[in-house]
Amino acid sequence: MFIRVLSCFISAVKIITDERCAGYSSYGHPENPRRVTATIARLKEQVALPLVWATPGQVSDEQILRAHAPELLARLEIPEDFDGDTPFYENITDYARASAAAALDALKAARNGENVFSLMRPPGHHALGDRAMGFCYLNNIAIAVLEAVATGAKRVAVYDFDVHHGNGTEAILLEQPGIAFFSVHLYPFYPGTGGANAGKNCFNYPVPPSAPHETYRAALARSLDDLKKFGPELVAVSAGFDAYARDPLGQCVLEAEDFHWLGQSLHALGVPMFSVLEGGYSRDLPELIFAYLKGVEGR
Ligand SMILES: [Zn+2]
Repeated sequence: MFIRVLSCFISAVKIITDERCAGYSSYGHPENPRRVTATIARLKEQVALPLVWATPGQVSDEQILRAHAPELLARLEIPEDFDGDTPFYENITDYARASAAAALDALKAARNGENVFSLMRPPGHHALGDRAMGFCYLNNIAIAVLEAVATGAKRVAVYDFDVHHGNGTEAILLEQPGIAFFSVHLYPFYPGTGGANAGKNCFNYPVPPSAPHETYRAALARSLDDLKKFGPELVAVSAGFDAYARDPLGQCVLEAEDFHWLGQSLHALGVPMFSVLEGGYSRDLPELIFAYLKGVEGR
């Protein structure tokens, strides 16, 4: 009995989330609270996949400032929009800090051998060292991997399968020792970067917007092969679900089974891994995340 309970616990996926991250919104904005609340509801109603739930802790200024300039933290307090699609919200610093803290907790859980997913907003991969942009305020994944390296990791890979290039992550992690960044995305497309590799450690797999499904899948497979060759001891995943065929922003070619396959492929690497939510704006987002989590759990 004990062994059965234990093995059930070990095979569960930890979801780090906080319904309070649904506390900000702007009418008509695609990055809306429903993304998280509907996903929580979907994951709570299912019984096929054992889950454990956790809420995020704290992130320190020191941890944030490895990725960001102090000026960005000051700017987040000024009530002016950051760009056309990145509004200022009251208390946005608190929401962004909670999302970054969840990424750090996900790192910790991965190091404990847990399967883990940070189901938070705002997303982070467009946030530059000194600038909020593209719905992103703090770069959650960059903060987490810089923490990993600062606390002893020697080879960390960031894998970004959001349909948009993770320009912020690339800019922050460029030439950072011990870290490699792999991003598969449409190009040319928002934010206009990612057409070629950058520095010695940022590897981009641009796919033309008109490419068919098999081309996109081939780019994903190639990037995963390269990631494997890098030989990471830890993999941090920027999990964006906007390459989905019916995503209102991405309008790309992937289906739920592709996200399941991505989860399985990352699981098959056999190294500690954590994922954080980036984009994904379709009403089917909860199903896409569920499919991915089943893959991550090795099903
Ligand atoms: Zn995106």
